[in-house]
Amino acid sequence: MSNLADLEQRALAELASCQDESALRTWHGKYLGKQGEVVAAVKEVVNVPPEQRRAYGSEANRIKVSLTEAYEAALAKIKQLALEASLSADALDVTMPGRAMSSGNLHVASRVMRDVRAVFADLGFQVYRSREVEDDLTNFELLNMPPHHPARDMWDTFHTTIPGVLLRTHTSPGQIHVMREHCPAPIRVILPGMCYRYENITTRSEIMFHQVEGLAIGERVTMADLKGTIVAFARRMFGEERQVRIRSSYFPFTEPSIEVDMDCIVCAGKGCGLCKRSGWLEIMGAGMVHPVVLKNGGYSPDQFTGFAFGMGLERIIMLIYAIDDIRQFWANDLRFLRQF
Ligand SMILES: [Zn+2]
Repeated sequence: MSNLADLEQRALAELASCQDESALRTWHGKYLGKQGEVVAAVKEVVNVPPEQRRAYGSEANRIKVSLTEAYEAALAKIKQLALEASLSADALDVTMPGRAMSSGNLHVASRVMRDVRAVFADLGFQVYRSREVEDDLTNFELLNMPPHHPARDMWDTFHTTIPGVLLRTHTSPGQIHVMREHCPAPIRVILPGMCYRYENITTRSEIMFHQVEGLAIGERVTMADLKGTIVAFARRMFGEERQVRIRSSYFPFTEPSIEVDMDCIVCAGKGCGLCKRSGWLEIMGAGMVHPVVLKNGGYSPDQFTGFAFGMGLERIIMLIYAIDDIRQFWANDLRFLRQF
């Protein structure tokens, strides 16, 4: 019995000197583990004289329970101390105001493109997405620009390493794709997208830009339909009072071809810096689809007619917001982008 009392004293003293969790676990193994001294002491009961066994057994069990409780209490205390130490080491002030997340916004080109699409959607035009990598045939030849055609000089082109494959210089090759896909059904689509030209970058020209092309084909589509569409677009986009002026022009894929001007949104025709004193702003090129292009798209020019128009989106945005440098669109300058 005195051995049991010694064991308890010794175990408690050692427990009190444990400084951390690993020391506690070692202590546990030494006294309460399967090979531990307390367990051995409990088993010792068989060697105790029979008249003392009962008292010995109950004392040994009491010590086992009491040491187990003492161990668990010590373990909980050490864990609590460790937690407090780590909390004070990486102090976190939950009352500090958080860092504000800056919210992004759509690029001005994306936003105005959505407006343009909405206007044409109301006029019954669907959006047709066409590829940006084209072949020479579709980008030029099928649009009535054979290799010798002088109009090809109007666009310097990014060619790829694959002969005859290039980045489209305009959205017009999409006309061929949509016609061949839908022929002989009537078509009313816009073809918005990015175009690429190998040009000197200046305040007025960039190597990449958006165009919005429009195409309508049917059995009785006339120049009057084209004019009505353009006027409706200009008034929805730039204000109900807008006037539209049509000048004759030339494009290889339309005949007749026109340039469309709109009275200046700043001076309403009186003349100002934006319109270079002319009172007019050029907004798009257009015309009736050339019979050769109709034929290349699969439509018989005897039965079908169509109109097409195309505008540079960035040019339109520059008019709306009086932006004087087209390079701003791709310069990734937040001071510019956050204004819209
Ligand atoms: Zn003006």
